[in-house]
Amino acid sequence: MSMCFLSCIWGLVILEGVGMIIYKTEMVKRRVFDKLICDRCKQEVMGDRELQETHSIRFTGGYSSVFGDGSDVSCDLCQQCIKKLIGDFCIYNKENIL
Ligand SMILES: [Zn+2]
Repeated sequence: MSMCFLSCIWGLVILEGVGMIIYKTEMVKRRVFDKLICDRCKQEVMGDRELQETHSIRFTGGYSSVFGDGSDVSCDLCQQCIKKLIGDFCIYNKENIL
């Protein structure tokens, strides 16, 4: 049987004898974004700064989709290919360019 003792010292409330939390250290495996192979140019993209500029497109085609109704479409692209494909049509807010 555990004992519960509540005391008050200089305004602090201390609950004693209730229990104890014991922690253990675990090794955790996790998946990390390591590299991307561009679906257009087949270049292997590595490194945090290059990887953060890649883009992945995933969607399911709807009833009138040019890709086909219900088709699962996916594409992983490097930043150079994104610029070649859509760069001429993008709107650049030059005030935010560092
Ligand atoms: Zn590419």
